[in-house]
Amino acid sequence: MKKLFFLAVTMMAAVATSAKMSYTVEIDTVGKYLNVKLQYVASEKGQQKVELQMPIWAPGYYDVLNYPKYVTDFKATKTNGTALTWSKYRKSTWIVNMAGADTILVSYRTYANVMDVANSRIRPEGAFIAGNGTFMYEQGHKYEPVEVSYIIPDNWKYVSTGLKVEKGTKCKFIVPDFDILYDSPILFGNHFVEKFAHNGHEYEFAFDPGDDYEGSTFKKDFIAMVDAATEIMKEVPYDNYCIINMEGVGGGLEHLNSQADYSSGRFTTKSRADYIRELDFIAHEYFHLYNVKRIRPIELGPFDYSQEPFTPLLWFSEGFTSYYSAQMLRRGKIITTEELLGIYSRYIHDIEIYEGHKHMTLRQSSYDIWLDFMGDKGNHRDVAFSYYNKGSYMGLLFDAKIRTTTKNEHSLDDFMRLLYNRYYKELQRGFTEEEFWQALQEIMGTTQEATDATALLRRYVDTTDDIDYDALLNPIGIVLNHETWQLSLMEKPSKQVAKMRKALIGE
Ligand SMILES: [Zn+2]
Repeated sequence: MKKLFFLAVTMMAAVATSAKMSYTVEIDTVGKYLNVKLQYVASEKGQQKVELQMPIWAPGYYDVLNYPKYVTDFKATKTNGTALTWSKYRKSTWIVNMAGADTILVSYRTYANVMDVANSRIRPEGAFIAGNGTFMYEQGHKYEPVEVSYIIPDNWKYVSTGLKVEKGTKCKFIVPDFDILYDSPILFGNHFVEKFAHNGHEYEFAFDPGDDYEGSTFKKDFIAMVDAATEIMKEVPYDNYCIINMEGVGGGLEHLNSQADYSSGRFTTKSRADYIRELDFIAHEYFHLYNVKRIRPIELGPFDYSQEPFTPLLWFSEGFTSYYSAQMLRRGKIITTEELLGIYSRYIHDIEIYEGHKHMTLRQSSYDIWLDFMGDKGNHRDVAFSYYNKGSYMGLLFDAKIRTTTKNEHSLDDFMRLLYNRYYKELQRGFTEEEFWQALQEIMGTTQEATDATALLRRYVDTTDDIDYDALLNPIGIVLNHETWQLSLMEKPSKQVAKMRKALIGE
């Protein structure tokens, strides 16, 4: 469905609709349930059945979450109240016998008390709503507008989300399709809110609690990070962007024009190192709006919510996003070159001190993530590793190799923009693994050296061969200590090398 990702660009405009699927969601703050009512209009006269499906996973969260397990009290009736029969198919589909009715009413409750960015959580003073575990879709209407109204306590003041509220309402939305509905979490309640405009785009910070935000440098630093990302990608593909940041267990989830995070939620009462980590975390979720939400492997959208999407490229989608989040901090002049090298050193260290990378390739660590191989089976560090860490420093190695091979004519930024412009904007789809490597070859050039450089990087992704860090990093003036795995600046580099290094890490 090629319209999907383009709709994202214009999603903020209200869509005039006579939605076939209209939801009303009442938030029960005592029982911690979402009481969901769906009005479904038949697609054709005399329709006999409808299959309603609830996702089992959420894009960006590479784990099966089995949302249907929270659903209870499923009922279906005609508009006059006559009960309709229904049956369950596998774990995530409810089949309702419509008996020829034009319109039917479906209701169910879903338990909402999980502290996790991909799950809803209701508290007396507010609620975080994740759509995947709230709404059921119907395959035929998945890419059509859906109407959603929430019923919330009167004393809840704020509705924070990337979606635009319908004019004249407090919390009614008309959403272009289910992909966007699932991509748009909402925080309701009396949390801290700050709204501002920057370069023609609107921003909202929704922090819970946000009680130590005043007096922090967060807004200035966030704008510097946004400007740095804009400079890298040369485009800001949203009208408005919302950060939902809640105090609690760690974890963030990226969306087309928002992010939802659980973090320490602290701004002024942190050490500098902790504050930098928080900024890096928020920058990571932000840069995802380009890398994975728009620049994406072909398996990652349009989404099949009924099963896991297997892709060999998450090391790129996640790892390069972390490479760039640290770059956003450096290019935004928030951190020093030494601090930047410190971040990349940690990624190398955390891979090299364990055996796992000798038994699993980077490609495989992405493909097999659905096996939860980093879970608690005990030997995971011996036989596996996280593509986040290795993928992040692979970003550094790619950038270094592109620059040295092309004599600083090209960089990883050019590669990212090539993928963005060709696949997201022109072809309006994701790229295959082969297309990914072909694009890299294009950026490298047509010489034998360029072909060898591309093949070398691919070998480091597709095999467990030891990486020759010195051969990749020394030509750009960076040195790696093979005992501590710390990166540092080479002393007295040539003028040419110093120039490339400055472009790479700002020194
Ligand atoms: Zn991520």
